[in-house]
Amino acid sequence: MGLAQEAKRVADEFDFGPDAVRKAVKEFIREMDEGLQKEGTELSQIPTYVTAVPNGTEKGLYMAVDLGGTNFRVCSIQLHGNTTFSLTQSKVPIPRELMVAKTSKELFSFLAKQIEEFLKLHHEDHFTGYLRRRQTGEHKEEEIFNLGFTFSFPVQQIGINKGLLMRWTKGFDIQEAVGQDVCALLQTEIDALHLPVRVAALVNDTVGTLMARSYTSPGKTGTLLGAIFGTGTNGAYVEKLDKVTKLTSKADVGAYDKSTGDMIVNTEWGSFDNSLRTLPNTPYDIELDAKSVNPGIQMFEKRISGMFLGEILRLALLGLYNDPNIPLFRDENSAQNDVHSTTQIHPGSGLMKQWGIDTSLLSICAGDQSPGYRVIRQTLDNEYGISAVSAEDAETVREIAAAIGRRAARLSAVAIAAIVIETGRLKPATTEQKDGVNPPRGNVESEGKGDVPEEEVIDIGVDGSLVEFYPGFEDHVRQALREVEEIGTEGEKRVRIGIAKDGSGVGAALIALVAGRVADDTD
Ligand code: ADP
Ligand code: MG
Repeated sequence: MGLAQEAKRVADEFDFGPDAVRKAVKEFIREMDEGLQKEGTELSQIPTYVTAVPNGTEKGLYMAVDLGGTNFRVCSIQLHGNTTFSLTQSKVPIPRELMVAKTSKELFSFLAKQIEEFLKLHHEDHFTGYLRRRQTGEHKEEEIFNLGFTFSFPVQQIGINKGLLMRWTKGFDIQEAVGQDVCALLQTEIDALHLPVRVAALVNDTVGTLMARSYTSPGKTGTLLGAIFGTGTNGAYVEKLDKVTKLTSKADVGAYDKSTGDMIVNTEWGSFDNSLRTLPNTPYDIELDAKSVNPGIQMFEKRISGMFLGEILRLALLGLYNDPNIPLFRDENSAQNDVHSTTQIHPGSGLMKQWGIDTSLLSICAGDQSPGYRVIRQTLDNEYGISAVSAEDAETVREIAAAIGRRAARLSAVAIAAIVIETGRLKPATTEQKDGVNPPRGNVESEGKGDVPEEEVIDIGVDGSLVEFYPGFEDHVRQALREVEEIGTEGEKRVRIGIAKDGSGVGAALIALVAGRVADDTD
């Protein structure tokens, strides 16, 4: 068999057709409902205690930190109150050894240290002034920054700034932290450094994205869904409070504002269909899962997000490479004589190491328009130790990478479609709007999609390197949305997807603001 047919065979293994999409959407809706009613379900459907989305008029100076999966970001945000903001931020990679440290203190003291550095660099006067006054006891409560803590792991939230870690994901594994209040862990380390910072709100990155998009998005319609496609994947959406029966039927829950009739729910959709009723399952998916730190869980995430797509590609390419009859990454002139002497793979190549291929390679493949795939070949050579890549090799990598990226986007569409359908947003806007979550806004701008009346727009905020940088991700999502009967071409046109740039920072600031209000009201 020639390389081209082999490449096609492997690419076809990643097909996820219209019927598969529709079946998965039904299952997603079933799991959404189940998760709203009871605990311990596949979709956790966690109530966030945030009951409204912002309308763009919010004001003030706030701090935010974001523990994603790859980086730690610290920022301060000035909300101007006219849908705009200014943001100062710093970003450091999280050291690998801290992700799997023995104790949570190692990780959280590192985080507090980064906050200290940030304050010294960007808010020096405020910081040193506070420290000085603190010694004489003259410091004031107002000097303390309210901080929104974006923590993008499953947490059982029990109050606006209190939440117990349920489990780690995305390669983190610090057993001692499971079950602990992550806000308290951070506050303890902040206090140890005497920083003028109060952890005011615990924010899932999806909720932050939802809030940030709703603050900045044009038009009157509040945002329905905030979704992350970064290291991991997850989404939070605006649900009707009376459907969240596992919360409303309980007496012993933290205080929340019931007046809006809504509750933002963090789906934790990374663990959608862990039992694989509807998800695709190639040999590469099976191997990736078996060798992961959490086999059998986060199965949806393992087919969609940045942490995993590169590894799926690696396993698929390795499958071809390891077959001596398939001429991938081999010098064709002498391949018949001695396979090992003609390999083009250098020692230490990422192809040979678990997690050795980054998902950015899929984006490079999808974006390479050059003749003979020069960019792909150069990247394989420079970054992955695979030299003298032929045009046919590059075409193989491109085709398989495209299939993996396309499947990821189509799976993402399953979650989006289910939430759009289940929240009833597709019904004519006039009946839906009467209890809309947002007051009307003054400055209505238009953001493309001019043919859809503003009140019919279903607004979705997204964030994460995959959706931001993978070429054509949104197009693939939209194609799949159209294939779902309840949505179709008409419904798909109403869906507006926008990047919530700096979403985690702005969103966390907005929730810190809301948290401040709640605290004031109860004082
Ligand atoms: P976080 O999840 O920590 O908030 P990001 O949203 O930046 O961070 O996502 C990081 C993930 O995105 C990593 O898994 C990385 O492999 C992947 N990634 C980085 N650059 C790209 C790119 N150009 N295209 C696709 N994926 C990318
Ligand atoms: Mg992120």
